[in-house]
Amino acid sequence: METKIQNITPKSLQQAKEILLGGGVVAIPTETVYGLGGNAFCDSAVQEIFRVKGRPADNPLIAHVHADYDLSLIIDSEPAYAKKLRAAFCPGPLTLVYPSTNKVSPFVSCGLNTLAVRIPAHAGAQALLKEINLPVVAPSANLSKHVSPTSALHVFDDFNGKIPLILDGGECTGGIESTVCDCTGEVPVILRPGLITKEMIAEVVGCCEEYVPALRAGEKVKSPGVLYKHYSPRCKTYLFSEQELALAFSVIEKEQSEGQTVGVLCESDKRALFEEKGVETFDLGNHPKEMAARLYGLLREAEKRCGTLVAIEPTVRGGVMSGVMNRLKKACQSQDIAH
Ligand code: AMP
Ligand code: MG
Repeated sequence: METKIQNITPKSLQQAKEILLGGGVVAIPTETVYGLGGNAFCDSAVQEIFRVKGRPADNPLIAHVHADYDLSLIIDSEPAYAKKLRAAFCPGPLTLVYPSTNKVSPFVSCGLNTLAVRIPAHAGAQALLKEINLPVVAPSANLSKHVSPTSALHVFDDFNGKIPLILDGGECTGGIESTVCDCTGEVPVILRPGLITKEMIAEVVGCCEEYVPALRAGEKVKSPGVLYKHYSPRCKTYLFSEQELALAFSVIEKEQSEGQTVGVLCESDKRALFEEKGVETFDLGNHPKEMAARLYGLLREAEKRCGTLVAIEPTVRGGVMSGVMNRLKKACQSQDIAH
């Protein structure tokens, strides 16, 4: 199959619509990362997404809708605090999990009785969703476990020959996936941190909790995605804190002595420390939003150029950095090479 990359025009939106209505999948830009879109009402489209990504069958998908979509078609009830969050942050990088009406394909939520819904802010995504006027599931458009895509070319690298169309909406400005917030209980609970922070949610509705997946025997995990290896570059990875710089240098030396090309991912103001020793660096920037926007692109660049990537934890903490650190830790979690 030929994989076309098309800018967003009335013609390419029509092509995307036709593919989606025919049960196919199309990669679409959003302000967070690119998504692999399929009609949420169509079992075979949803199954095709799992197949083409190699996604574990118990990791549910997010339904994306346009800003004027009638949510009562797909969700059963909405607590007052969720309405407030929607008014404050949607369209935007916030996914809300609701009790489901069970109208979308059962494969979307993988047997959970809830549905995750997002209204993306990206103009191209909104235009397509308006055009099709259906919920579109759109998990990150990367092969399962690989780094999420923030450009059309990243998607092409993972899915060339496997999907018919990538809508090119430019580089994603957000850079990490949406905040996932459970709205099925008394108070909002963050299942996955992102650009809409715990502090921002608490400011609007008074409180916000964070889900810690500490499983007891027999207990079901609320958001299966949090358990999986994710976001991994295809090279050996290490992650060191600022206090472990001496250790980082000794690992770099050891890897180099074994013939590996080593790169260092760090904040701008740490680069000189490594570059003066002749080590290539990947510049995260200095500000939280900048780091979020750059992270995945740099991980994808690093895996092309290096056998070993040594990441140094940024010093800034809290807010958006919770999301950035969550992704960075998962990317460097294991020495396994992701396939
Ligand atoms: P992705 O689309 O690849 O960014 O992954 C979607 C994320 O949303 C995963 O971490 C899922 O576990 C989570 N998610 C999707 N649907 C639900 C749901 N109904 N309840 C809880 N988490 C969900
Ligand atoms: Mg993903």
